[in-house]
Formats: sequence, structure tokens, C-alpha cells
Amino acid sequence: MQKLTDERIKALQLVLPEARRDELMSAHTSMKIGGPARLYLIVSTRADLLNAIEAAKSHKISFYVFGGGSNMLVSDDGYEGIMLQFADRSYKIDGTSIRAAGGALTGVVARAAAEAGLTGFEWGAGIPGTIGGATYGNSGSFGWEMKDAVANVEALKISTNAIINYSNAECRFGYRDSRFKRDPHVILSTTLELRTGDREGALKKVAEIMEKRKASQPQGYFSAGCLFKNFEYEDESALEKLQTQVEEIPEAMLKQKRISAGWLIDLLGLKGTKIGNAQISPIHGNFLVNLGNARAQDAMALSSLVKMKIRDELGIMLEDEVQLVGW
Ligand SMILES: Cc1cc2nc3c(=O)[nH]c(=O)nc-3n(C[C@H](O)[C@H](O)[C@H](O)COP(=O)(O)OP(=O)(O)OC[C@H]3O[C@@H](n4cnc5c(N)ncnc54)[C@H](O)[C@@H]3O)c2cc1C
Repeated sequence: MQKLTDERIKALQLVLPEARRDELMSAHTSMKIGGPARLYLIVSTRADLLNAIEAAKSHKISFYVFGGGSNMLVSDDGYEGIMLQFADRSYKIDGTSIRAAGGALTGVVARAAAEAGLTGFEWGAGIPGTIGGATYGNSGSFGWEMKDAVANVEALKISTNAIINYSNAECRFGYRDSRFKRDPHVILSTTLELRTGDREGALKKVAEIMEKRKASQPQGYFSAGCLFKNFEYEDESALEKLQTQVEEIPEAMLKQKRISAGWLIDLLGLKGTKIGNAQISPIHGNFLVNLGNARAQDAMALSSLVKMKIRDELGIMLEDEVQLVGW
């Protein structure tokens, strides 16, 4: 990407004076990896977000909207434009629905729902990051996904500048997928529709989910959650090579037509593999952890190595779940 000149950066800073220069993205991502954004701005209200986007557009400077930075791998070169961190944390509960700003924290919204005696979003308590990020990637865990709770999404369509209210069906949610991944939008708010439950029961479920997560995920390391999507297939011919390498594929995976990426990584004995200070977690094969000051380049090389081995030895091409920024 072409380098932004000093003049162009300063011109945008004149209209967005709080934007910081050359801010290291490692300070704003859960992996603690990522070089400098030419400009970086926290926007705490929807109006500030829309204003900053308008300013970037009129100065013809690229912008990238993100939330918690918990699903991103930013390059060591950083981002040649303005990174906008959406931090409007507001949400409102009205009966069984919750309207949450794109910058509201998913875990906070999930706990508030349980506190209000609503059920159906307890699983969200363990998801780092924001409602905007969770909607974008149709985040999920233990069998639940955003698509099960979303009623509608209000988003700014970048190509036309229109603010559109999308129904659940119009969001075209799929496994870790949504229309927002294909057609650039900024998610302003998401309305969840939950069910009336009992407060005690919902809070108990939140606690159980948090316990389960603690037991299955590496604790105390910087990561971006799962590195790869699990492998989905239509017909069994996609598993031909894999079947020659293993005695048995777990029944649950065959039933769902979805092979766990972590299981494949474990199968090839790749847990613990390191490049520089980036490591495939010895605890969870689909977590790439930063052991301290890991470079994005090392994380990328490690991710490519895993993909290549799985492709060559098991005939399966894994897809990234983590979003790549500035590569
Ligand atoms: C320890 C750990 C555990 C995790 N466990 C899970 C899990 O169980 N299930 C799961 O699904 N994920 C999991 N994740 C990944 C991550 O937490 C989720 O994907 C989360 O929903 C991302 O939200 P975020 O705000 O941090 O997104 P970010 O990382 O900030 O952004 C991710 C993508 O979303 C886009 N985006 C963010 N906000 C907006 C917006 N307002 N409008 C438009 N686009 C936007 C960004 O442009 C980017 O492409 C885990 C991560 C960690 C670190």
C-alpha cells in the first residue's frame, strides 16, 4: 500500500485532532501483536464514529473499524490509514430485547441479560470483544452463535453511505460468517431478541460456561482465540486423504460435517510448535499464543506452516478465522 505523506496525515489530524499518530496496534489487540497505525482514534459515540468515517472518506484516507481487537492479526508494518476503535459501550434492555451499540462489550451485555432474567445469550459472557465484532464474524461457542440471538442489525453501508436496518435473514449469517464480511459495512448497533427465563438459572449458566471455557482454553497467554475455522465439507470425498491417516474420525464431527481444526493440528503433533515467540498452544491446538514480543511475521509464518502441513498430509485446506489487517 502507498505510504501516506506527512501532509495528508496532518490534514486529517486537523479535523480529527484527537487521532494519535503511529500508535502501535500491539497495544489494542488481544494477541499484543501489530505495528503502528498511521493514525488511531477511539470513538466513544456513534456520532463520533460517523464523523470520523466521513472525514477519512473526504480526505481519501483508508479507515478500518474494529472493536476489542480480539480477532485480529495486524502486520508488523501496521496500517496505512486510520484505525477507528468503536467504544460506544451503551446498551438498552426493553422487555426481551436488547439493543447494543456496536462497541458494547459482548461479555457485559451477556451478563446484563442474565441479571435481567433473560435467557439465550449466556454463552456470550465468555466472548472477548464487542457486539460489532461478534456480529461481523457470527461469533459462537458451545453450539450457540450470534445468529440465534440477533433480531436485526443497523449498519452503515460503506459503498452507498446509507444506514440500513438488516433483519436476521438479511445478515446472511453462516459459520463464522455474515454479509458484513463480504460487503463492507460498519455495524452501529445490534438488537438481540432473547427469552424470559429466571435470573438465578441464567446466572448459573453464565458461571458454568465460564468454568468450561477456563478448563478448555489456555489461560494467561495472549491470543486471538481460534486461529482457523473448523473444516466444513459437503461430501465425504473431501476426507479421502484424512481417512487414510486416522483409524477413526470422531462421530460428532462426521455428524456435523465439520472437522475440528484443533483436532487436525493435534493429529499431526503440531501443538507446541514455535516460530520466534509465536507458538501453537500446547493446550489447545487451534490457539496461537504470543509468548512475549512475538512478531506478526512469526505468527503468520507459523500459521502458514500449519496450513501447509494439514494440506499436504491430510488433504484439507484450513481457512483463517482471525482477520488479517495491514498485510
Ligand atoms: C481468549 C479468546 C477466546 C475467544 N473465544 C472465542 C469463541 O469462543 N468464539 C468466537 O466466535 N470467538 C472467540 N474469540 C475471538 C473473538 O473474541 C471474537 O471473534 C469477537 O467477537 C471479536 O470481537 P472484537 O470486537 O474483538 O472484534 P475485533 O477483533 O476488533 O474485529 C474483528 C473483525 O470484526 C470487524 N469489526 C469489529 N467491530 C466492527 C463494527 N462495529 N463494524 C464492522 N466491523 C467490525 C473488524 O473490522 C475485524 O475485521 C476469542 C478470542 C480470544 C482472545
